[in-house]
Order: sequence, then structure tokens, then C-alpha cells
Amino acid sequence: MKVDLSKYSILCGCGTTHEMKTCMVAIESGAMKKLGEYMKLYGFTGRCCAVYDKTTYRITEGMHPACQQEIVLDPEGLHADEKSTAYVLSILEPDIEIMIAVGAGTIHDITRYCAHERGVDFVSCPTGASVDGFCSTVCSMTWYGYKKTMPAVAPVMVVADTDIFSNAPVELVRSGIGDILAKFTALADWRIAHIVTGEYLCETIYGIVDEALQSVANGIDDILTGSPKAYEDVMYALVMSGVAMQMIGNSRPASGCEHHISHMIEMRTPALEVEYVAMHGEKTGVGSVIGARVYHELARIDDITPFLVPYKPVDPEYIQEIFGDGLKDAITEENENDVLAKVDNKVFAEKWPEVKKVIAGIPQADEIYSMLEKLGAKKDLSDIGIGEDKMDIVIKASPIVRNRLTLMRMRRLFNFY
Ligand SMILES: [Zn+2]
Ligand SMILES: [Zn+2]
Repeated sequence: MKVDLSKYSILCGCGTTHEMKTCMVAIESGAMKKLGEYMKLYGFTGRCCAVYDKTTYRITEGMHPACQQEIVLDPEGLHADEKSTAYVLSILEPDIEIMIAVGAGTIHDITRYCAHERGVDFVSCPTGASVDGFCSTVCSMTWYGYKKTMPAVAPVMVVADTDIFSNAPVELVRSGIGDILAKFTALADWRIAHIVTGEYLCETIYGIVDEALQSVANGIDDILTGSPKAYEDVMYALVMSGVAMQMIGNSRPASGCEHHISHMIEMRTPALEVEYVAMHGEKTGVGSVIGARVYHELARIDDITPFLVPYKPVDPEYIQEIFGDGLKDAITEENENDVLAKVDNKVFAEKWPEVKKVIAGIPQADEIYSMLEKLGAKKDLSDIGIGEDKMDIVIKASPIVRNRLTLMRMRRLFNFY
């Protein structure tokens, strides 16, 4: 399939003109060989440098786009960090005008960072359907040992070849599906925040992510049979989720309570005693099961009025206890302008029937769990390096890693929190 994204750059029904850097997405068999043609078609005719790692160079043999320069990195110990980017920038020819990433997350982050540094265009060729960040405007770097989100450029086009990404290691697509199923709770959180506080919500953007999500959820069985169409749906959903984030300028449409669970693990929060850090989509998939369970339990309450308590800021002692000396300052700062303070308990109680309707649209936790189970994907905390006895901490503390209004964060307004 080929999607022209210029149709989204018009004045939207929400009253905003969404700025789009990505003008075209092609997800199809043989797409790599057509890359040059597509670039010409959209006016990207400058001098190109393609960045690969040895593996992606080998698996795309015979399909490499004609480029003035090729950089092939050693995947052994390769990270998106200050060393790999300095190396690429040091050998990058000075007159390169377009950088093409051929690979998965790390190659994308290295390339988009360097493209941003050089101020040149960036083209994305994902080789695995693993994560929804291909269209992102930021990159996730490890800078002198610290995880950091840094400014980068969004791709001018995404060209994903089904023949390549549908043959990638199966863990990649499992993780990609986990990042998509996460949208059940992410979208619900966005809608709930909109209902309760009037937070901005664009129906077009919401619809893009929702439609992509439904097609993946309905195609789980086809993934198991290796159907190229089902793989394309996953890649499409991942790319469009990135497009949605680009349209709004933040991760709201794609990230809610389940991503906060993932972030909390990634930060190696001491109270969780994280054994190892699983792949992004593995953590968000598990996070989505947990979120769905908590939300459906809440929805069993008909009238929340007797359970609501006045707002209180996050307890500094609790932050210290869970996050320890290393993280407490960052977490305290994150919660300084707590979005929860904006919630009026009276309005929350009045709107509760509407909130319940939103929750009813999320599949039951067991359903999401069985989708992951069917795929052979990670589904429990113990599958992703966290003890099951840490469940209460995950539910209670994960919303405070990010100052974004989710129903999980709103649990602090209940007397049983
Ligand atoms: Zn809009
Ligand atoms: Zn994600």
C-alpha cells in the first residue's frame, strides 16, 4: 500500500493545520527496489548516503538504493550513542543532502540524529516491524550512559519492503504488535482526559490510530500463518501511529498508562528490582494487559462519588521509597505541575458514565492476554524481568513517571488508591 500523507496537511476538523514532515509511506513487496523512483517522484534528488548495519546490508543485498555513499556499521555492541553518531558524522561526505536509514530502531536513531546534526533530509527504510518510532521527530539515545530523548528529524518518506520485514526475526513483530495493542489503553486514556478535563483531542488523529489498531487486533491469527497482508497491517499501524504523533507534536495518541509502565521498567526503578530490560513493545504489551484489568475493575463502580478524596500532590516519601536517590529528583520535578490537580472531582463523578463507556471499548485484560499468548509474546510481568509480587507498585507508581493525565493517574483521587 502507498499512502500520500499530504491529505493530512490541510486544515483539520479540529481547527488545526497539522504539520507533516513525512509526505509518503510505501509498504509493499519490492518497495526497496522502487526507493529511487519514489524519491525522484517526490523531488528528493540530492546526493544520498545510506546507513546500514552488516546484517541489514546483507539481507537487502541486490536491492540497495543507488547512493553516493554507503555506511555499513558493525551491529556487535552497536548503540545509538555519542560514539556511533560521532563516527558516522566523521566519515559522512560533506556534500550529502539525504540520509537513508536501512534497519531497525538503532540504525534509525543514529541516522536521524546525524541527519538532524547535518540539517539534511532523512528517509526511513524499516527492516523489522518492531516499534512505532520510525516517523518520530525525536530519537532515543544513550548519551554518555544516560537514556535521553533528543531532537531529530522525521523522515520525508517511509519505504518498507514486505519481503524484508515479514522475514525478520519473529520477536520483532511480536514486539511491534505489543506496541500496537498498547493503543487500546493509550487511546482510552486520551479520550478519558478529554472527557474529564477538556484536554485537546483531534478526532482525525484518534481515528487514524484506532483504525490501525483494530486491523492489527483482528489480524492476529493471520500473523501466525505468516500472511504478508497481516505483516503489512502491523507495519502500517506502527508507521501511522508515528504519523499521528507527528501530526499532534507529542506522543499522546500512542502512549498512555501502559507506556508509563514500560518507562518505569526502563528507568530500572529500584523498587521493581528489574532483572533485565525487555524490548519496548514487550513491555507495553504487558502494560496494556495490566491497564485493561485495572480499568475494567474501576468500571464496575456505578457511582464514584463516595470513593473520591480531595487532590493531594505525590508524597515525597513515597517517591523516595520507590525511586530511590538516583531517580527521586527527576520524578519530583516531573510531578511539580501535576496534571491531576486540574481534575475537578465533581466533574469527574458527573462524567463517570461517559468514562465507563470508554472503558467498555477496551477489550478485557484476558482478551489482550490471549492475543499476546497466541503470538508467543510476553504477557506477564514475570516474562519481562519483574516479579509478580511487584504488581501493586507497578500500578500505583507507574503513572508518576510521566506527568500525563491517565485514568491510572486518576486512581490517586480514589480512597482505595
Ligand atoms: Zn486535527
Ligand atoms: Zn511505544
